[in-house]
This record gives sequence, C-alpha cells and structure tokens, in this order.
Amino acid sequence: MQFMSFWATNDKRTLLHFSTATLETFCLHVQASDADCEAGGLLLGSVHGAHMLIEQATVPTAWDKRFRYLFERMPFGHKAIALSRWTASQGTVRYLGEWHTHPEDYPHPSGLDRSEWNRLSAKRLDKRPMLSVIVGRKALYVELVPSSGRGSVLTPVE
Ligand SMILES: [Zn+2]
Repeated sequence: MQFMSFWATNDKRTLLHFSTATLETFCLHVQASDADCEAGGLLLGSVHGAHMLIEQATVPTAWDKRFRYLFERMPFGHKAIALSRWTASQGTVRYLGEWHTHPEDYPHPSGLDRSEWNRLSAKRLDKRPMLSVIVGRKALYVELVPSSGRGSVLTPVE
C-alpha cells in the first residue's frame, strides 16, 4: 500500500507535497485490523506561496484518547513538538493542519469531523484554510478547510 505524495486543488492553484516521513507515519497508523484504534496528530510543514510542503505528522501521544471510531487529541504533546520544530526551523516549519485515521478504505469526513475542522480553522491566526487529512486503508482524504462551510478537496496529481 502506498499513498500519493503530490496533491492539488481542482483549479491547480494549490499544490501539496507530503514528505516520505509524513507518508510513513500515515502508513504506520492505518487501521488495518478491526481491533486497531483511530490515530491522529498535527501536520507540520512550510508554505511556499500557494503551495505547501508537509514535512512531518506528529504521532499519537500517551495523553490522546484512542477508540475504534473516535480519536480525541489532547494538546500537550503535539503542541510541544510543533513549538520545538517551529523554533528549530527558525519559523519556517509550522502548524498547517491535522490528520486522523478512519477504519474505511476510502475515507470521508463525518459531521463531527466537519464541525471540528471549521472550529480549528476559525482559530488560526494567519486566517489560512486548515489542511485536514483522513488516513483510510487504501487512500487519503485531503481538504483545505475554511472557517465555515466546505473547503477545496485535493486530488493526487501523480
Ligand atoms: Zn473522522
């Protein structure tokens, strides 16, 4: 199983690249068996004009609450990692969004996902849409989410 590295919005104005390390983190947390719990974390990367490079996905911490159909991320561990990467990169690598897994081959956001994404997007200081990724068993779901309503869904360009 291999997830795609390059993604774009339909108008091709925004291109997105997931680093190998990011895709490896996604692969490691795919809910392959019925017993696996949902996982998730933050997406850290850099912005280049309209384009984004996702360098790292933080992994679940001991504080997160993980269930089969629910993942509740506790902020402590993830925020600390985001801050240390931001400092070490002198401000170029920063928080760009969130990821979590679904026990579906081709995942789609739930109503709860949508309201959570809109809430997180509204909190962003830079007013950019938030990148939201759902890791399914066979594919990723990738969307840039504004503070209200639906965003732009990205598709693979390879
Ligand atoms: Zn979800």
